[in-house]
Amino acid sequence: MTIDSNISRTDSEHGSSDEPVFTTGLLINGIWRQADSTFTDLNPATGQPLAEVSDGSAADIDEAVAAARAALNGEWKTTPGAVRGQLLNRIADLIERDGAYLARLEALDIGKPLAQPGMLDVPNAAATFRHFAGWADKVQGTTIPTGGAMGRPTLSYTVREPVGVIGAIVPWNTPLMIAAWKIAPALATGNTMVVKPAEDAPLSILHLATLIVEAGVPAGVFNVVPGSGRVAGASLVEHPDVDKISFTGSPEVGRHIQISAAQTFKRVTLELGGKTPQIIFADANLDAAIGGSAMGLFFNQGEVCAAGTRILAHRSVYEQVVDGLAGAATAQVLGDPFDGATTVGALINEKQQKSVQAYIEKGKAEGARLVAGGETGKSEGFFVRPTIFADVDNSMAIAQEEIFGPVGVVIPFDTEEEAIRIANATPYGLAASIWTSDVSIAHRVAAEVRAGAVWINGWAAIDPALPWGGMKTSGIGRELGYAGILANTEEKVITVVM
Ligand code: NAD
Repeated sequence: MTIDSNISRTDSEHGSSDEPVFTTGLLINGIWRQADSTFTDLNPATGQPLAEVSDGSAADIDEAVAAARAALNGEWKTTPGAVRGQLLNRIADLIERDGAYLARLEALDIGKPLAQPGMLDVPNAAATFRHFAGWADKVQGTTIPTGGAMGRPTLSYTVREPVGVIGAIVPWNTPLMIAAWKIAPALATGNTMVVKPAEDAPLSILHLATLIVEAGVPAGVFNVVPGSGRVAGASLVEHPDVDKISFTGSPEVGRHIQISAAQTFKRVTLELGGKTPQIIFADANLDAAIGGSAMGLFFNQGEVCAAGTRILAHRSVYEQVVDGLAGAATAQVLGDPFDGATTVGALINEKQQKSVQAYIEKGKAEGARLVAGGETGKSEGFFVRPTIFADVDNSMAIAQEEIFGPVGVVIPFDTEEEAIRIANATPYGLAASIWTSDVSIAHRVAAEVRAGAVWINGWAAIDPALPWGGMKTSGIGRELGYAGILANTEEKVITVVM
C-alpha cells in the first residue's frame, strides 16, 4: 500500500512551496523554536516515520506558562470581547482556507479516511471558532436583589472573569476538533493558554497554531508545547501558575490529573472514555438503525469516545440486527486513508492494534459469537478489520471496557426496563442512541439513561452550541455551548453597601 504523503500547504493554494511540509516546533510567546530533543511521529497506515516533532520539557512548559501569565496581565486583559470575537472569526476563516491541508494532515497523522476530517473535524473546528466568536462580547453577569447589609441597602452584581491560564491536554483521535473545543471558548472569554497535543498526532494542532498567530492573536496568549504526557503533560498539570486543566483522554490519565491538580486547587474539566449503548427497539426503522449503528461503530476506526459499541437489540429483531451489522462490517473497505474507496483506516499505533486484538481474543474466550472481522487484515500499518460479536452478555469484558477500535457487541433485551438496566450497567455515561418510532418510548428511555448526550434515531449529532461531556467515568464538567462559557470563567460578586 502506498500512502500519498506528498502534502504541502500549497495544496490549499496559498503559501510558498519552500515552506516546511509540517510544523514541528514549540510556539512560546509568539516565537517558534525547536525543543532540545524530538520524538518520532509515525504514519499509522504504514508504520513508517512521518515527522520528528519537538519533545517539550518541563522547562519549556515553565516558559510557556510564564508567557501565558504575562499575556493575561498585558494588552489581552483590556482587549474588548468584540475584538476577541473578530480574532476567532479570523481563525475560522483561516481553518476554512487551509481546510484541505488540515484534512490531509489528520488523515496522514491518525490514519483515518480522508473524507472524514473533510466532513467532520475541519468544518466542526471552524464552526466552533465561529460559535464562540459570537459569544465573546455577550458574556454577562447579573444584578441580584438582596436584603441589604448592616441595616443599609446594597447593590449586588456579578461579573464573569477569565479563569486565567488554562492548560489544555488533547488526545490523538480527533485532535483538531477537540483542540478547537478547548481553545475557542477559552480565548472568547479572555483566558490565555498552553496547549499540549498528543504524541501520536500533533501535526494539525501545530498547523492550527500557525493560523492563530496569522490571525493576529497577541504573543503569549496562545502557546503550544508538544511532548510526552509523562513530562510536558504532567508539568502542565503540576504547574502552580496554571489555573485550570482542560483534559480530554483516557479515564486512567484523567484520574491521575484530577488527583495531581488537587494539589494546587486547579479547576479541571475531564472528557473521558465511553461505552455508548445504541438501543434498537422492535418498532425502529431497522435499515436506519443498522446503518446508523454501523456508522457509530466504525467511524474513525471506532477510535471515538462516543463510539456506539454496545448495540442492545430487542429480541424480536435481534438476529436481523446481528446479520445487518455483520454485513455492514464485512462491507467496510479497510485501507489507505487517501484512497477514496476506503471507509476504515488504520488504528493509531501498534500498541492500540495489539490492545484491540487482545479484546477480540478475550471476546472469543468469553464465549461470544464472532460474526464478522476478527483479523488485522493488512501486513503493514496498524489495521484491524471491523468486528462484530453476537450473543454477548453485558458482564463480559468486551461489553464493559472501552476497546477504542472497530469492535461492536450485540446484546439482546426483552423489555424497555431491561434495555435501560443494561444501558446503564457500565462505568461510563458519555452518550446513548435510541432507535424507535414510538415517541413515548424515546422520551421515557432518554430520561432514564445516565449519559451526557442522548441521540434519538441518530448517532453523534454534535454541534458547537450543544454542551458536551459525560457522567460517571466519562468525565466531569461540560465543554461547548453556554456551558463552555461557564467552564472558562469565574463568577465574581460585587456588593455596594449604600
Ligand atoms: P491518553 O489519556 O493516553 O492521552 C491523552 C493526552 O493526555 C495526551 O496528550 C497525553 O500525552 C496526555 N497525558 C498522558 N499522560 C499524562 C499525564 N500523566 N499527565 C498529563 N497528561 C498526560 O488518551 P488517548 O489515548 O490519547 O485518547 C484516547 C482516550 O481519550 C479514550 O479513552 C477516549 O474515549 C478519550 N476521548 C474522550 C473524548 C471525550 O470528549 N469524552 C474525546 C476523545 C477521546
